[in-house]
Formats: sequence, structure tokens, C-alpha cells
Amino acid sequence: MSDQNASPDALARPQDVRKFKPYTRQSIRQAPQWGLLPEELQEAVQVVSHVLPFRTNEYVLDQLIDWTNVPDDPIYRLVFPHQDMLPAEEYRALRDLVLVNRDAQSVNPAIAALVHQIRMRMNPHPAGQMTHNVPRVNDQPLRGLQHKYKETVLFFPSAGQTCHAYCTFCFRWPQFVGMDDMKFDAKETHELVDYLKTHRDVTDVLITGGDPMIMNTRSLAEFIEPLLAPELAHIQNIRIGTKSVAYWPQRYVTDKDADDLLRLFERVVKSGRNMAIMGHYNHAVELRQDIAQQAVKRIVGTGATLRMQGPLIRHINEDPHSWAELWRTGVRLGAIPYYMFVERDTGPREYFQLPLARAHEIFQQAYQMVSGLARTVRGPSMSAFPGKVAIDGVVTINGEKLFALQFLQARNPDWVRKPFFAKYDPEATWLDHLKPAFGKDRFFFETDSAPHEDAPRKVIPIASARSCTSSAA
Ligand code: SF4
Repeated sequence: MSDQNASPDALARPQDVRKFKPYTRQSIRQAPQWGLLPEELQEAVQVVSHVLPFRTNEYVLDQLIDWTNVPDDPIYRLVFPHQDMLPAEEYRALRDLVLVNRDAQSVNPAIAALVHQIRMRMNPHPAGQMTHNVPRVNDQPLRGLQHKYKETVLFFPSAGQTCHAYCTFCFRWPQFVGMDDMKFDAKETHELVDYLKTHRDVTDVLITGGDPMIMNTRSLAEFIEPLLAPELAHIQNIRIGTKSVAYWPQRYVTDKDADDLLRLFERVVKSGRNMAIMGHYNHAVELRQDIAQQAVKRIVGTGATLRMQGPLIRHINEDPHSWAELWRTGVRLGAIPYYMFVERDTGPREYFQLPLARAHEIFQQAYQMVSGLARTVRGPSMSAFPGKVAIDGVVTINGEKLFALQFLQARNPDWVRKPFFAKYDPEATWLDHLKPAFGKDRFFFETDSAPHEDAPRKVIPIASARSCTSSAA
């Protein structure tokens, strides 16, 4: 019998049983590794973490970061805020305020005002999350729900709106920084259940955050078990989006309710549904640890599936070898490579973004290094306003160099897997930088001739993700 099929309990537990210990801006000085950082890196953490959320934990510090390689270590760059994540003038202005008020006990209004201004510049809700994805019942928005694609509803339980550590590139960063009017969170499931009862074409519920795995098993079960009701038989897939598999794999192995969690997964599987863990991985190092490998085996041992996904980010995972190693290891343990995303147009994107042309090269190189079993992975894919758009390749047609693109997922299901072309642009980093090919003035999805309408109806201008509100996009 392979490990994958073994009962979770049959798998050995590692000797190292840690208790979760987080560090924040206020407490990071107590971490033994803090003293290894030169003063300018310490200062950058203290300053930039006023804008971007900062949280890490003992496991990330001890096991995932190579402190002899700081600040270039990929996980250090993933978790610790850097000076270059803000434009120089913003950094200077904020640093001056922070240093002067270093010992103040209360929030300084000048710091709060500057921080707010910087955050609003950072496109806190990309891809129309706040404006176009929130379902309404009786003209009231349902707090904590998003319904962008016909078959999938996203659910944000309020107790799951934090993470075991924060990623500096995170596109959900407003969830963590106290911008309450920008937050998605739901206290309970009854609105979700009522909504699903009347939307029978929904097959998937994605429970997301933050990280729902931050909840204890009892709380998580309170959100999941109502979805197993017979009147919701059309819900076939219960997905959980989580980075715990990388930042805190102990959640599945040594936490005191780890076994209860696995039993919960088994109950979902037994109900005839697919329990799908959407595991967020950024770098091969995250799956080199024994405990991380144990976590994968224990998850898939319950009959749940574990898919691997994550964004391609400059300074962190530009090396195709790292992606290939990650996917190979995942496949060996029973996980399924799923998506390589393009870094979203939010937060300190100038620091993290890569040209689409480069993203395609990295994806192709990594894809060429792995066997067919790992080629379930798709990408590089932009989760943009109209849908998930993958760059399939660079081609030349009638002497014109072009990007070949397709929707992997779309607001309008008719667009999915319809190939389309954009002019090749070596600098473009996002869909709204691209121009249609063949002399057209708009992409096919920017107009839609509705039946019985004489004039074409403009439905999805791709730039609207940046212009539809002053604050969110
Ligand atoms: S774990 Fe996910 S939700 Fe949490 S900070 Fe990282 S990317 Fe954002």
C-alpha cells in the first residue's frame, strides 16, 4: 500500500511537536533571528509593515528561511517587508514619521493618514472584487460572499481572515490591515446556505480568506457541515484555499486537533463530495521539509485532493527549477499541480511583477522539465476583471508578433477556451496593458452583442478593474 492510501493515523508523526507561535511588528524583536538582521533591514520591517501586513511564525523563521542568504532568501522576501516595496519618497516620508513616533503608545494620526493614502494608491481590491463580484439579495450585498464565475461561490468566514504568516505580495491584504469597509467576512453560513439553495447551478464553494485553516476544527466544521445538507446536493466540491500547507503544515500533523481535521475531511468525502484543498505554494523549499511532506500525505490519505497553486513573483520564484521541483515533489506525494498565476495588479506590484513574456518563458521552461503527471498545471494565468486569462504562447502571424491567449475561466462562460491574440509587448505585465491584434480596437470580450439588441453592448472593458471606483478595483 502506498503512503497516499494509508490511513492518516498509520503515518508516523515527527518528533518535533511545535506550538504555533506568531510574530508581528510588535513582537518580532523577540525572535532569536531578529538580531541577525542589519539595522537597515530592521528599519524597513518596522516602517513598511505600517502599510503592508506583517506576520510570521517560528516555523517559517526556523525552517524555511536560510538566514545566511538574507535578504535574498526567497522566503525572507516573501514574508518580510522591504524598503523597495514603497517608492523612495513614500518610504522616506513614512520612515520620518515612524522614527519620530517610535515610542508612542497610541496611533499617530499623521502616520495613519499617510498609510491610508499609500494603501488606497495600491489598488486594494483588484479585478472588481468589491464592485462586481458581491452577490445581492433584495438589493442588499451579502457580506462575505463573492460570486464571479457561474459555478463557484467564494465564502469568507470571519474567523478565517488571518493567516499563519502574511505574504508581502498578497492581493487580499486589505483583509488584514483593519480596513473594515474593504473586508469580506461572514459570521455564519445561513446566508450562504440560503443563497446556494436558490442557485442550483453552483457546484463549488471555495472557503477562503485569509486562511480558513487558521480556525480550529470545531469552528471550521460549523462552516462546512451545513454544506453537506441533502438540499444542497448540487454542491459537489467543497474547496478550501490555504497556505497552511507551507506556512504551518503542523495543522495537519501535530496540532492538537489535526486528527479531528482529517476526520472532517473524511466526512465530506463520505458524503459523496470532493474535499479539495487548494494549497498555496510559492517555492520548492516549502515542500522540502519532512513535516510539509507529511501534511500532504495525511491530507490525500483522507480521500481529499490537494491542488498546488501560487503566483510567479519577481525576487521569489523566478527560477523554473524551483517550480519544477515543487511540482515533481507534489506529484510524488499525491498532490496535483494546478495553477501558476501572474502576480496581481495590487499592493507593491512594481516590486514583484514580471513581464508577461518572461512569465511565459519561466512557465514553459518549468513545464518542459516535468513529466506528464505534473503537466496538469496551467498558466501563467492572470486573474483579471473578465476572468482567468492564460498566456499560451508567443506566435508570429502574417509577420506580426503576438501573444496567444485564452480564458481558462470567465465571467461569461461562452468565452472559456476561445483563443484570442494580442500584440506582443515585451514590457506588458497585465491584461490591461495589452492591445488587440490584427488592427482591432477592442478584444472580443469587450463588446457583446446581446440577442435582440441592435447596437453592440459593451460589457467588460478590461481597464474597468482600475477605474470602476476610486478606491477598489
Ligand atoms: S497566505 Fe494567502 S491570504 Fe494569507 S497573506 Fe499569503 S497570499 Fe494572502
